[in-house]
Amino acid sequence: PFDVLIVGGGPAGAAAAVYAARKGIRTGIASERFGGQVLDTLGIENFVSVKETEGPKFALALEEHVRHYDVDIMNLQRAKALESEDGLIKVELESGASLKAKTVILSTGARWRNINVPGEKEFKNKGVAYCPHCDGPLFKGKRVAVIGGGNSGVEAAIDLAGIVAHVTLVEFDTKLRADEVLQRKLRSLPNVTVVMNAQTTAITGKDKVDGLTYKDRASGEEQRVDLEGVFVQIGLVPNTEWLKGTVELSRYGEIVVDAKGQTSVPGVFAAGDATTTPFKQIIIAAGDGAKAALGAFDHLIRSSAP
Ligand code: FAD
Repeated sequence: PFDVLIVGGGPAGAAAAVYAARKGIRTGIASERFGGQVLDTLGIENFVSVKETEGPKFALALEEHVRHYDVDIMNLQRAKALESEDGLIKVELESGASLKAKTVILSTGARWRNINVPGEKEFKNKGVAYCPHCDGPLFKGKRVAVIGGGNSGVEAAIDLAGIVAHVTLVEFDTKLRADEVLQRKLRSLPNVTVVMNAQTTAITGKDKVDGLTYKDRASGEEQRVDLEGVFVQIGLVPNTEWLKGTVELSRYGEIVVDAKGQTSVPGVFAAGDATTTPFKQIIIAAGDGAKAALGAFDHLIRSSAP
């Protein structure tokens, strides 16, 4: 069996692999797409010490760093179940194989919920964005929309209002779901317009975004807003469906972890966007992965198994 088996090869999993391997213990990493969300990212400008890079380049650097150590890398493998068995943890793969380990680190990340309107896919990274911390500065002085009036949408609108020229917040419902204090802050901002009861119907443009259309759900009329960017903020979904019923998940489906990355199952640790660790960012996921690997190592040296 592996001493540490990591499931998920994004920044969290890669950092965990480097930290585990450096302890000289048997380490494996199984993932569907090594690199994770970073593969879908254009520019990265907030990983401290790397002033500027591109997602695919960063993903390659993650894999190269892991390959530098004695790590069993199993790419294109999707895990479908986890169970504890005779003091070991068994991870079943879609391929039919199963892997056994003394400790497991879950780092399967998350995905942004798509709005699925015409233009969203076409203009991804050409005006359609999901992460205000990452891409907000690209829209400095421009007009943007935020779709979604929950906490993340309203936080994004407040954040962006300090950078861009104007923000239109588009909410499907007749009211915002964000906390009252956020709504108050939002209403105090002079360059934010809130449109409620509005169903986004399309994101328009030629080579990049030039506007958004929505249906006024009260009148049925179609409206258009001219703008340069659209932030979709209708939820981040953790890739944890396969863990339901085995490790404790929060009501948002995030793996509940303690300060050392330990989950509700002894020997099973977790890190990054898939967990309750707040603020979903590369540097945070990487730090979290390192922490979970050290947590797993700590568990190994304390458990009786030789
Ligand atoms: P992920 O990167 O999501 O990696 C998850 C890994 O698990 C992948 O390898 C995946 O294939 C694998 N996996 C999932 N399910 C399974 C399964 N069942 N079995 C096996 N493997 C599985 N953050 C920044 O800090 N700066 C930025 O500029 C930035 N820009 C972004 C732009 C975009 C478009 C997106 C989508 C995100 C951006 N982020 C940015 C956020 C950042 O990418 C994430 O916070 C970070 O990648 C999370 O790392 P992670 O390792 O936890 O998960």
